[in-house]
Amino acid sequence: MARPLRAEIDLAALCRNYRAASALAPQSRSMAVLKADAYGHGALACARALTGLAPAFAVATIEEAVALRDGGIETPILLLEGIFEAAELTTVEALSLWQVVHSEWQLEAVLAYRPRRPLPVWLKFDAGMHRLGFSADELRRHWARLRQAPERVTDLHLISHFSSADLADDSAFQNQHAQVRALGEALGAPLCLANSPATLQHPRAHGAWNRPGVMLYGSNPLEGALPAQVNLEPVMTLRSRLIAVRTLEAGEVVGYGGRFRTRRRSRIGVVAAGYGDGYDRHARDGTPVLVNGQRCPIAGRVSMDMLTVDITEVAAADVGSEVVLWGRGLDVDEVAGHCDTIAYTLLTGVLPRVPRVYL
Ligand code: PLP
Repeated sequence: MARPLRAEIDLAALCRNYRAASALAPQSRSMAVLKADAYGHGALACARALTGLAPAFAVATIEEAVALRDGGIETPILLLEGIFEAAELTTVEALSLWQVVHSEWQLEAVLAYRPRRPLPVWLKFDAGMHRLGFSADELRRHWARLRQAPERVTDLHLISHFSSADLADDSAFQNQHAQVRALGEALGAPLCLANSPATLQHPRAHGAWNRPGVMLYGSNPLEGALPAQVNLEPVMTLRSRLIAVRTLEAGEVVGYGGRFRTRRRSRIGVVAAGYGDGYDRHARDGTPVLVNGQRCPIAGRVSMDMLTVDITEVAAADVGSEVVLWGRGLDVDEVAGHCDTIAYTLLTGVLPRVPRVYL
């Protein structure tokens, strides 16, 4: 029997989540963010599933865009960080990619390049994230320069990214949003602002385009609960099985460093999944896992290829029993909370040795 660990990817659920995201913003077009291999779900498979549904995709790197084009994807693709060197502009042109321009050298490279047909540009405003983008003054100047080069540049958009759209306290969001709105109005620019949190809880930030990412994969990025009308489904279910079971007396320890100590006579199940597969080693004792559909707590440190769970309460559990590490029946957001992280890192962290099985 093959090692039982696999990541099942429910592409129909991905499409339903996409529809839920676009239904929240009926006046906007929603590009599906497929960077980091579609948050670990397999960018090409996700792009194929969303073809005809999403009017555009977004990725971080040109290599990610090339892989999609090589896979036959013809939908427009936005490079969220733009080019990393001027020579990439030939690929941008050849593959009809859309590019973010966030820094002076990119701007100069675009203005120096002689395309056969003008290239779409998404000029990035730094509204307070202080990661990428121009100040309002710089942006106004660059916008004017780009407008004066219609043989080089077309389809100018204003793009910005919120630092805090997920928080319950919306003061930072409101401040950033007010700046970008004012700038957009002054320039008459089509806006692309909303990530998943802003798509979910800040309709005022919905622009000509939105950019939902993690919500498409079924995770709730908000500090609080999802809005009542929104239903997101898990797309990835990380499944494995018990490969060993042992009974320990009270007071015995389990795993590296003996972190977990039994308080009673206990049955400990060994699951084929570890940090060498991307399961987070920071998972605390008590992190939930489903064994035969029942919640069981992780007991002991996660090791490279295995982890251990207390299955004392699941009488029928034995070698071969089904284990769900997250996904259907066990929210990845809940698991992430037990690892002091967010679902984004768990999903993108599933390593290549875990086969993706598409449903
Ligand atoms: N836009 C940009 C520039 C991003 O960096 C990201 C993700 O990090 C997204 C959109 C999508 O964000 P989310 O996954 O929170 O929807």
